[in-house]
Amino acid sequence: LKGPLLARFYSTEPSLQKEDSDFKDGKGFKGHDMLAPFTAGWQTTDGCYAYDANGKRYLDALAGLWCTALGGNEPRLVEAATAQLNKLPFYHSFWNRTTKPSLDLAKDLLETFTARKMAKVFFTNSGSEANDTQVKLVWYYNNALGRPNKKKFIARAKSYHGSTLISASLSGLPALHQKFDLPAPFVLHTDCPHYWRYHLEGETEEEYSTRLANNLENLIVKEGPETIAAFIAEPVMGAGGVILPPATYFEKIQAVVKKYNILFIADEVICAFGRLGTMFGCDKYNIKPDLVSVAKALSSAYMPIAGVMVSPEISEVIYSESNKLGTFSHGFTYSGHPVSCAVAIEALKLYKCVSILPLRKSISHPCRERNIVEKVESISPRFQDGLKSFSDSPIVGERHWLDSWYRVTDNKSPNDPFPSEWGIGAYFGSQCEKQGLLIRVAGDSIMMSPPLIITPPEVDELINKYGRALKATEERVKELKYQ
Ligand code: PMP
Repeated sequence: LKGPLLARFYSTEPSLQKEDSDFKDGKGFKGHDMLAPFTAGWQTTDGCYAYDANGKRYLDALAGLWCTALGGNEPRLVEAATAQLNKLPFYHSFWNRTTKPSLDLAKDLLETFTARKMAKVFFTNSGSEANDTQVKLVWYYNNALGRPNKKKFIARAKSYHGSTLISASLSGLPALHQKFDLPAPFVLHTDCPHYWRYHLEGETEEEYSTRLANNLENLIVKEGPETIAAFIAEPVMGAGGVILPPATYFEKIQAVVKKYNILFIADEVICAFGRLGTMFGCDKYNIKPDLVSVAKALSSAYMPIAGVMVSPEISEVIYSESNKLGTFSHGFTYSGHPVSCAVAIEALKLYKCVSILPLRKSISHPCRERNIVEKVESISPRFQDGLKSFSDSPIVGERHWLDSWYRVTDNKSPNDPFPSEWGIGAYFGSQCEKQGLLIRVAGDSIMMSPPLIITPPEVDELINKYGRALKATEERVKELKYQ
């Protein structure tokens, strides 16, 4: 698999054997909560490393929270922010006003997204706000078209779309719903496309995808196609466990959605800007969405910014309707914040290698030569091969290489998970931290998405540390098994 810098080892979760979700009882989301409380606080970052207040150095194999794609001290981003702060630190984007950086970034983004033509960008401050905005735009659009009943959304089990009321409703993780009176009633959830976990005996990936597409179609027909407004999906599911779409999945799902005149929203919050070895996840899986959410690596997380890209058909309807009403009343004070936009413009240049500035002597990082997306393609085989070397581990079940995500299972079977009280995932996470390696734990799934600037020696260091943590965890499992 060419490309990605994402991985996961799946260690199955306790308690879920027969259930349709690792996260059904909410336990899957505990993850790091189960680790020892971290009290020192982060002090500084440098490239792929983070330092705590005690000066301990950690290789950050999660890139913050899947977001600091350009690492911890990219001077071009800092300079872009500083220059913008000196020039125009703020102006809002209400009432047909906006700032030049916001216009420039919108133009750049629309040029960068080539899976299909997009016409407009609406900026928000977070991925959650972007997905809330998606829902409002779709409702507005259907109201404008005289389709007041076409309002329901279909998302997928184990998806993550944010934590505001609407985006948490879209998310398919029960822990985000329990005790919050969510999900909202207009949200329906269909199957999680996790082939390893849920395929039937003898079922190929293609057959599994067909079954899931049929299930989606049955759900649409049962609910009434005239009531379903949109389907939302991450190209690769992130927080739900780095779940890759099985072969032909998006082709079949898109055909169903199209048949019933349902909009397709691509949540590219994690996948966009090189994570999968392509500029967008839509490029990798041939997705032609009507709307797209972006965030995180858009500014490499140096400043909060996110956005929604909208197709020409939808933006035309929204424009003409808001012209009739005299207003389009949606937005945030910091939408299109000029400093965030200036940083994002610079980040896009680095991803795309639009302008290669001469390397400054003071910058020694070997990946500073840019064209980050191609760099991901060339570094990912090293990362993936390193992870493959753990295939023989008795506690590794499934591995996925989209750059760096992965999972682990006792007896290598999705149906034979570790008992939850063993806390294997959390144990593994704490062993990694001991080694100075930051990863993500969800139940017994281990996930990684290192900064895209990671170098070959840093990948080797990551793999070595990971291997040591894995060995310690294997010992732990042995002890628990035979005690
Ligand atoms: N969508 C996806 C796919 C995400 O992974 C996330 C955050 N992890 C969000 C939306 C929400 O983004 P934010 O935390 O910026 O609100």
